[in-house]
Formats: sequence, structure tokens, C-alpha cells
Amino acid sequence: MLVSLIILRLHPSKNYIQQEKMCCIGKSASKGGSSVTNSSAQAEETVIETLNLIKVYKEGKIKAVDHLNLKIDRGEIYALIGSNGSGKTTTINMLTGSLFPTSGNIQVLGLQVPKQRRMVANQIGVAPQDYALYTDLTVEQNIRFFANLYGMKKTQFLKRLDELLPILRLNERRKTTISNLSGGMKRRVSIACALVHEPKIVFFDEATVGIDPVLRAFFWDYFRSLAETGLTIVLTSHVMDEAERADRIGLMRTGKLIEEGTPQEIKQRHSALSIEQVFLKLSEGVVADE
Ligand code: ATP
Repeated sequence: MLVSLIILRLHPSKNYIQQEKMCCIGKSASKGGSSVTNSSAQAEETVIETLNLIKVYKEGKIKAVDHLNLKIDRGEIYALIGSNGSGKTTTINMLTGSLFPTSGNIQVLGLQVPKQRRMVANQIGVAPQDYALYTDLTVEQNIRFFANLYGMKKTQFLKRLDELLPILRLNERRKTTISNLSGGMKRRVSIACALVHEPKIVFFDEATVGIDPVLRAFFWDYFRSLAETGLTIVLTSHVMDEAERADRIGLMRTGKLIEEGTPQEIKQRHSALSIEQVFLKLSEGVVADE
């Protein structure tokens, strides 16, 4: 049920999962080289690892993800950036177990995905690109719906709701029906649904789109405080100064990871003043999908 729900959140209009053979990734080694800027007190522990991950569509005509090798540690904020159609959402969907890879391996929290996706499902949260909320339900009802699915007790849920609503500036909107909210507010409800059960990993697919700059800055401080408690945050973004606040950035181009590292490392490698400059340089010549 929970996995179906994640699928529903990521693909509200479709459910095209197909079974494919997966095999296990070996026990993950700790990352060398890249320095993670968050709490050094946290032991480096890989929570997401992919090996030669591939997803093709249309019988191979579209290579959405092409030999992707990712390694993300506990407590990291990892930003996937890239032009439209570069494969970010496809990657997130495969990591959450809602879309089956064509080939390659995925391990999340030491479990194989998609094979063991049911065991992973209640340990992760997802805020998809297109909200995936019940528009005729209120803010509280939507969040409660997810809390119920994650098996939260009523008292536990209410306590959590009282924490989340003020942080996400939704207190005044608790009883408002989703259809009466602005885009940015819906986005905040979606974030609340992803965080309600205190997951170990959260995936935000363009989660801050439509959120004004002041709130966005505030959310980033909140995300940072969550990461410091050990929550791993994987997000996609088209806002480059936002991506620059991540611990590490992975830049995708036509399904491939063409650059990866801390914002500082990446800027130094390209003698650039900003990640936006690097993005423009490396995405040159790519015609974004229409
Ligand atoms: P955006 O920044 O616009 O959200 P993205 O980087 O998330 O883009 P994806 O949505 O992962 O990119 O798409 C990667 C490629 O896969 C694109 O060429 C897209 O057209 C294609 N694609 C995605 N989903 C499907 C699908 N269900 N069927 C066929 N092609 C698809």
C-alpha cells in the first residue's frame, strides 16, 4: 500500500511499473575524496548507492538515465541539477522504487530497490514535482492521510502536525481545502506529507518551486537543521543559488552524471564564480526537452 502510494505521489496518472531482475550491490564503501560540509561528527555512512543505473524509454530510443553511479551519505543534502529532460526525475523515481530501472543496481538504506522497496517505503519521504495531494481534502486531512499510511498513532500525528505546520507556515491554513491554496502553499503541504513520519531520507523533486525567496531561505535553514540530525535530503532544483547550499551537487546531462562534488570543488574545477556559470558552461549545446 505504502509503495503504491509513493508511486501514486510520483506518478499520479500512471502506474507503469514492470518487474525486472535486480541483483545486489556489494556492501558500500565510504566515499573518498569529496568532503561533505555538514556535521563532521556524523559517521560517514552510505545510504544511497547506484551502480550503472540505466533507464530507457521507447524501446531504447530515449536513454533517460545512462550508467548513473551515485553514492550519497547519511545526513547529506545532495542536489541533482541539469537541464529539462536530463534525467533527474527519472533518477528520483527509481531511487524511491516507484519506477523500475532497465538495468543496474540500487541500494537504499542497505536494501535493494526495487526488490525490497516495501521495506524501504516507510523509511523515506517523497515530495514530488506535481504535489500529488487530494485537492478536495484539507491541509490537515492530507497530512493525516499520509501519517495513517505510515502507521502513526493519532497522538503522535497531532504532535508532529503541531511541529510541522508552524515551520512550514501553514498554521492558518490547517482547515483549508487544497484546491483553495496557492501553488507555493500546496508545495509546502507536499513537504509536510513527506516529512510527517520522520523519514531517514527525503526526496524533494523541485520542492521549492513557487515558494518565495524569503520562505525558501528559511526552508533551507530548516533542511540544514534536519540534515544535522542525520536526515538525508536528495533534491532536484533549477535554482542555482539554492543548489549551491547543498553539501554536494550532481550535474546531469542527457542521463549522465557529468560533474559531481561540493559546490566549492565544482566551482574551483571550472574556475567559475558560481554554480550557475558551471551549469551554463556544461549544459551548452543541450536543447532542453519540450
Ligand atoms: P525536468 O527538469 O524537466 O523535470 P528531468 O531532468 O527531471 O526534467 P526526466 O523527467 O527524468 O528529466 O526525463 C528524462 C528523459 O526521459 C526525457 O527525455 C523525458 O522526455 C523522458 N521520459 C521521462 N518519462 C518518460 C516516459 N514515461 N516515457 C517516455 N519518456 C519519458
